[in-house]
Amino acid sequence: VVGRGLVQAGDRTLSCRGIILATGGEWSSREFDGSGLDDVVNGDDLLNARTLPGRIILHGRSPWIVEIAQFFRRFGSEVILSTPDETLLPNESKTITTRLKRMLTGQGVSIKTSVRIARARKEPDGLHVELEREEGIETVVADRLAILDRKAAMGDLGLRSLGLSEEGEFLKVNERMETAVAGVYGIGDLTGPLSMHYSGLASAGALVAAENAMGVHAAINPKTFTRVLFTQPQIACVGLTKREAKHLGYDVVVGSAPYSMNSLGMLLSEEDGIVEVVAERKYGELLGAHFFGSAATEMAGQAVMAIDLEITLEQLGRTSFPHPTLSESFSEAARDALQRPIYLP
Ligand SMILES: Cc1cc2nc3c(=O)[nH]c(=O)nc-3n(C[C@H](O)[C@H](O)[C@H](O)COP(=O)(O)OP(=O)(O)OC[C@H]3O[C@@H](n4cnc5c(N)ncnc54)[C@H](O)[C@@H]3O)c2cc1C
Repeated sequence: VVGRGLVQAGDRTLSCRGIILATGGEWSSREFDGSGLDDVVNGDDLLNARTLPGRIILHGRSPWIVEIAQFFRRFGSEVILSTPDETLLPNESKTITTRLKRMLTGQGVSIKTSVRIARARKEPDGLHVELEREEGIETVVADRLAILDRKAAMGDLGLRSLGLSEEGEFLKVNERMETAVAGVYGIGDLTGPLSMHYSGLASAGALVAAENAMGVHAAINPKTFTRVLFTQPQIACVGLTKREAKHLGYDVVVGSAPYSMNSLGMLLSEEDGIVEVVAERKYGELLGAHFFGSAATEMAGQAVMAIDLEITLEQLGRTSFPHPTLSESFSEAARDALQRPIYLP
């Protein structure tokens, strides 16, 4: 971007009425003693590699780091997943994070939380990586250390030519995806913290930005923000968690239904799957729905529609989903929140 309504593409300067900035994210590095070693890599190096590392440490705060951990574990690598946060997916509900931890541990992924990389050094038996925690330093040995964080790609974008700041973690936009400059919009990873780097949010924001740029009034609905991860089993979180809803001042009611009490869930031996709903107490308006287990990402679409249409727990609890399907747990979770479950003991 070279000025208001001006974009440089190669040697051509294009003029336009509106600009939608969508440069996404880029890998960010961490500085520590040994961060320049060959075996300390970023996501591109890791995913483009021709050989599988026998032992790998994945470090970062990206939500999809768990997909990568599972991927390498499946192919036989020994995987250590370390994060500076107190838990994986710290923004999601405990219902999801406890199951996620159990799932990864059960699959053989070693999880280290509240960790900082202090130092890495090459030794004959591999890369010695010092993981620093409050309790002290733990040294783990691996073939590769991958730093898997991304940051908004704001550099070289010409934001200053528009009067926008290049400082800060990401480009700020409002619910219409407008930046501080009229006619300039931003979407996707460029406009949110790492915890919000999800493709569904990028697409939803793109539609809103495109409509506003063309004169249609549109706004994004934070209650339908969708975070999906294609782990096995899948994770899909829509809208607000209990913590977020409380923080926004709602009087919150929560209900859940495990797949183990669902007819198809029993047939499929889905022991860990669960649906959790979050609603406000007075009218029972659905504010969030979180899914862990098979078909979670498909069911998330039903939740987006339900929340967008301002469905209540009463309506959801009375909805007859096809039988036998895992989706029946969605209405059972609503009935649980109303303290009228059918299948739960
Ligand atoms: C390994 C991995 C796994 C993921 N798994 C999931 C998942 O399971 N679920 C999920 O929801 N999300 C997942 N994500 C996140 C998801 O990919 C991103 O949130 C999404 O791609 C963001 O879309 P975007 O359009 O903002 O940016 P991007 O998809 O990054 O697109 C930005 C584009 O802009 C181009 N560009 C950059 N600068 C310029 C410039 N100056 N001029 C022209 N073009 C430029 C880039 O080359 C790129 O093509 C994953 C990400 C990674 C890395």
